[in-house]
Amino acid sequence: MPVIRVFGAAALFALATSSAAQQYPNRNLSMIVPYAAGGPTDTVARVTAQAMGKPLGQTVIVENRPSAGGILGPEQVKNSKPDGYTILIHHIGMATTVALYRNLRFNPLTDFEPIGLINDVPMTIIGKPQLPANNFKEFLEYIKKNKDKVSYANAGIGAASHLCGMLFMSAIQTDFLTVPYKGTAPAMNDLLGGQVDFMCDQTTNTTSQIKSGKVKAYAVTSAKRVPSLPDIPTLDEVGVKGAQVGIWHGLYAPKGTPKPVIDKLVSSLQEALKDEVVQKRFSDLGATTMPVSQQNPAALAKHLKAEIDKWGPLIKKAGVYAD
Ligand code: ASP
Repeated sequence: MPVIRVFGAAALFALATSSAAQQYPNRNLSMIVPYAAGGPTDTVARVTAQAMGKPLGQTVIVENRPSAGGILGPEQVKNSKPDGYTILIHHIGMATTVALYRNLRFNPLTDFEPIGLINDVPMTIIGKPQLPANNFKEFLEYIKKNKDKVSYANAGIGAASHLCGMLFMSAIQTDFLTVPYKGTAPAMNDLLGGQVDFMCDQTTNTTSQIKSGKVKAYAVTSAKRVPSLPDIPTLDEVGVKGAQVGIWHGLYAPKGTPKPVIDKLVSSLQEALKDEVVQKRFSDLGATTMPVSQQNPAALAKHLKAEIDKWGPLIKKAGVYAD
């Protein structure tokens, strides 16, 4: 008898879950951003969320859960109800934090259902407006000569800006004082105010500041020049090897989110990224929308694993850790 009763409860639960999945979504969703509002991850989130709202028939509300290194956002989503109403947007940090944190409270590979890849964003090395250097050569000379007083802003260990800085400092064999923020939006404010000297940040945050001449731009981290910023040389062109990096973004749901819900999120993501307005907005900001073949769970799972395997050994070799 008790066996039948247990089975009955399980069957009822499955039935309720499947009918909830069929009605999904019947209210607003939350998209958690692990960094401060107004920054690059936030910008990608807002464009994606707004466009996904149409096919979902609901508003996707962007919620910022900022922390240095972006480690609290994924934890919040991991602990959310797996019903498709809370999803996570994150970048390459989802892969690099595994090697950087000894006590990470989430496992990127096992605590989430991947939804799909979104876009790829290059980074730019930029300096405060007051820096005397007007090109990369002068910049390099200046920061090397003044290495004891120059400061580098980033969004904490595990952020893209941290990774880029780490690669850059190692490539030029010079360390600088690092100032961590909970996102590069606040870091940018301090850079504009002249409190910190330089940073490496996504074009989704730096393009307008570069174009309006509010910051000095010295190099891009992509293999080729960025079409929306054609005058900025690549690191490779200016002779800096080994610091090339692209910041890819992905969308995730908590582990256990029902398959029909994930399917709906995948089709909505694909619909959103097909929109020419979205693609234009991304390309104006220097970003490349992922091809539709990458906008699905299998492609994100594969890429995430490959990136963990790629960055893990490099980070371990650099000997950088956080607790
Ligand atoms: N650009 C930041 C980073 O370094 C993240 C952000 O503020 O969105 O990862």
